[in-house]
Amino acid sequence: MKDAATDVKRCPVCGKELELQKKSYAMGSALFTNRFHVDIYACPRCGRVELFAAEQDLVTCPVCGTAHPAQEKCAICSLNAVLDGKYGR
Ligand SMILES: [Zn+2]
Ligand SMILES: [Zn+2]
Repeated sequence: MKDAATDVKRCPVCGKELELQKKSYAMGSALFTNRFHVDIYACPRCGRVELFAAEQDLVTCPVCGTAHPAQEKCAICSLNAVLDGKYGR
């Protein structure tokens, strides 16, 4: 069991508890297949913004077996769908 109290993120400037502003924010373009997700925290006192790597929920695609983030579609299958549309017979 993880102790929630130790999970508190504090502002490196003033020590105030950071507030989660945006969870699993996708960095980069939507065209990237492996986008980097961050949790955005901000200090309510001094406005300091801190980024933390978001915990990735990796799931295994039942179709092709590729591991990909749970919040995104399987890149391999979406690619295959595009190719099938073009070259399907
Ligand atoms: Zn602060
Ligand atoms: Zn797949």
